Amino acid sequence: MVIEALPGPDDGGGSLSPPVRVSCLAIRVGPRHSARVGAARGYCECVSNDELLHRYEAGGGTLAAANAEGLAVPPALHTAVLTCMDSRIDVFALFGLKLGEVHVLRNAGGVVTDDVIRSLTISQRKLGTRDVLLVQHSGCGLATFTDDDFSEELAHEVGMRPPWRTHAFRDPSVSVRRDMAQLRHDPFLVPETRVRGFVLDIETFALDEVFVDQPASPGLAAG
Ligand SMILES: [Zn+2]
Repeated sequence: MVIEALPGPDDGGGSLSPPVRVSCLAIRVGPRHSARVGAARGYCECVSNDELLHRYEAGGGTLAAANAEGLAVPPALHTAVLTCMDSRIDVFALFGLKLGEVHVLRNAGGVVTDDVIRSLTISQRKLGTRDVLLVQHSGCGLATFTDDDFSEELAHEVGMRPPWRTHAFRDPSVSVRRDMAQLRHDPFLVPETRVRGFVLDIETFALDEVFVDQPASPGLAAG
């Protein structure tokens, strides 16, 4: 596949040598990778995978290798952070983290799933973490539909229901409380696991702690 990257408006027409300063390059691609597909579905016309690989070649790979140099595999702070895949959440900035300090597990919602348990179990038993910091957030996409509705949509479109649940929620504090309880009782996590859970206000980035034994109430909005 031939890719030709054209300088974007903020690129100044200069070279792409590090530090990389690209936003959304226009990319010409072959007919099999038409950017019109993205446009038709209402998202960026960039061909995303190609954009990332362009940035890798423009210095990302070199920078990542330098950042990881000398780091041990076990996280230095013995902590795992579970949060949503929401692209606005910068976990490292939020908690002042550096590379090598924590495991970061992300999925839609930052919810506890079988695969999160799998990862946490390995994180704890093979790589020495003990604390789990759970962060879900206001304005999450998982609060915009119900499990049944999403399942119904998929069944209508593809002819079968998914074998998994979305873990959709209305109130992130209720979801955090439920997931904290699940983590604390999971038999595969070590007994000394310390779990703390929070709701992040996606507007102010205030963190509001959630406690397992507090009664469910609507008064937990972050901020
Ligand atoms: Zn989210």
